[in-house]
Amino acid sequence: MRKWKAIVAAALVVALPLAAGANVVVLNVPQIWQHKDTVMNCVAQPNPCGPVIHPWNHALAGCAHCSYYCVPAAIAMVCAYRGTTVPQDSIYDNGKSCCGEIQGNNKLDTHGVGMFDRSALAQGLPDEVHAGFLWARQPWSPVIYIWGPVSQGYPGLSLAYLERCIRDGIPVIWCDHGGWPSNMEPYPSQEIQEVSGHAKVIDGYNDNGTPQNTADDQFHIVDPWPSSGSPYWINAAPLQDPQDVFYADFDPVPAEQTTWSAVKRLFR
Ligand SMILES: [Zn+2]
Ligand SMILES: [Zn+2]
Repeated sequence: MRKWKAIVAAALVVALPLAAGANVVVLNVPQIWQHKDTVMNCVAQPNPCGPVIHPWNHALAGCAHCSYYCVPAAIAMVCAYRGTTVPQDSIYDNGKSCCGEIQGNNKLDTHGVGMFDRSALAQGLPDEVHAGFLWARQPWSPVIYIWGPVSQGYPGLSLAYLERCIRDGIPVIWCDHGGWPSNMEPYPSQEIQEVSGHAKVIDGYNDNGTPQNTADDQFHIVDPWPSSGSPYWINAAPLQDPQDVFYADFDPVPAEQTTWSAVKRLFR
């Protein structure tokens, strides 16, 4: 009996790291690990993978699909949260626009070269993430909102607005510039790291009992990296990197309802 009590106490410590009176919202976005997840035919040279599904934890094996599929997995998680199953291979195939990839041909023409955030190249927004997200959310055709990179002159995502999104039931995809998993093997080259990052989903927050002060808040992350320990909580500071980019899918405003009262929720 004593042992049972000890287990319960330990579980509470892990589950409730909260200040008294804290407001906590977690959307419980389904966990999906990044990996080649369909029999879509990989025809990339050299050594094409062929029409095979890779194991769920193939990312650590250095697979060029599984290692670089954080964006497709993050988008697939948001789709799962919305109630649809969208394969990561299909998101990649329909969002990728460089390196020989032919969009929407049901073949993977490249070995998964990632979806670059490009902010360090001063090229602005990662259009491939936008294209993949928009395609995956068909036929609902939501409005895809984008924040950052602030370093390139785009408006940033405030922590207060991020929390507003979560309260409204909208998870946010976070393209964390340079946020590569530290145990990635083989570790990406410096060149790749400088133009890319790691995508995760932000699906919750804890205001730490101080609703007026977002700086001390914590955020709940669903990470597609198999050995990341996902889901986990992080502090606010990493979310304020001026090179990071954030995406969220808002419900479209019906054409017949383009009144201020219908659209103002998009601006609060
Ligand atoms: Zn392949
Ligand atoms: Zn693989």
